[in-house]
Amino acid sequence: MNNRQLFLQHVAQTSDAPLALEIVKAEGMYMWDAGGKKYLDLIAGISVCNVGHCHPAVVKAIQEQAQTYMHLLVYGEFVQSPQVAYAKYLADHLPASLNSVYFTNSGSEAVEGAMKLAKRHTGRTGIIAFRNSYHGSTQGSLSIMGDEYWRNAYRPLLPDVLHLHHNSMEVIEQITERTACVIAETVQAEAGVWAPSREWMQALRQRCTETGTLLILDEIQCGLGRNGTLWAFEQYGIVPDVLLLGKALGGGMPLGAFIADREVMWGLTHQPVLGHITTFGGHPVACAAGLAGMKALVEENLVAGVAAKEQLFLALLQHERIRAVRSKGLMLAVELDDFASNKKVIDYCIANGLITDWFLFAPQCLRMVPPLIITEEEIREACRIILAGLDTL
Ligand code: PMP
Repeated sequence: MNNRQLFLQHVAQTSDAPLALEIVKAEGMYMWDAGGKKYLDLIAGISVCNVGHCHPAVVKAIQEQAQTYMHLLVYGEFVQSPQVAYAKYLADHLPASLNSVYFTNSGSEAVEGAMKLAKRHTGRTGIIAFRNSYHGSTQGSLSIMGDEYWRNAYRPLLPDVLHLHHNSMEVIEQITERTACVIAETVQAEAGVWAPSREWMQALRQRCTETGTLLILDEIQCGLGRNGTLWAFEQYGIVPDVLLLGKALGGGMPLGAFIADREVMWGLTHQPVLGHITTFGGHPVACAAGLAGMKALVEENLVAGVAAKEQLFLALLQHERIRAVRSKGLMLAVELDDFASNKKVIDYCIANGLITDWFLFAPQCLRMVPPLIITEEEIREACRIILAGLDTL
């Protein structure tokens, strides 16, 4: 059996239709398959490789940390310099109230930790989430997933969760003194890129403050420069009580975090009940990699180039088969008629050396979330392939 057959035989899958492309190398904007074919990457491992694949500084940090020490003890007991340095660097680049970083293994685990924190900090149980939101695949994060179809197969889930309309002023009043937390993606990604209005975000913030409810913003996909500012919430003139990060946070290694004010975080950790326990959360190699990745993002000034690149995509994406293009920075959804036409274009792109896919809750939308290092020439090349794919419809 070849590797592809072994993969299908022994590696458990998330769906019955995996792409099953064998990639043997990745660097910067590109990947190569086992047959030596080169692909331009338009999805960055779903918003993970914001500084490109195998950034030299990230690789170096991993190598150095791996030969210094790897796992020592469960999270939180020993002083480990990669964690300390990354927590400090994050705090230095966040508003003053987001100064305490709890590192996790994944985005979903950060969501779980934040919901637990909200329950203990407020002593309440109510959770408010939004329709079409994606927060992960564990049972807690699945409970707040904004898509019933995906949720239903796993009932019963967490009780006391309300799913409200995203970006609707009418729902604000439903946040009450019973609500422990409101959790929202700052910009909804898997829904097919939906950015709420500034007014709505500010109303949400105000209502949470009035009712003593924690506002948790999930920037696992839209944070770390993706939307054109280091943090997406900056564009709304608000600061969340808890910020969730993941994906690009590890520079390509598995790492998540929930970040809050030290006083709020204390709600989770004080006795008599233990807080959140994680064996590998904040793994020293992942923290070293993540810190090197974030430093590259900041020092190479990648975020400053995002808006112009977004505009170039928007200018080039003109075709009669495109129904709409929604974007926030280098997170773009190209909406077509239906999944069948989108799948045809995606297959065409992959056959022609361009990696793209669809969004979980918007299968009719083509995903464009490239590494932020993408050049003007590469944007033109990506759009040329997509437009040629659209011509085949
Ligand atoms: N929140 C958002 C907005 C996400 O996009 C994702 C992952 N797609 C998650 C949470 C969950 O992250 P993970 O897959 O690392 O658990």
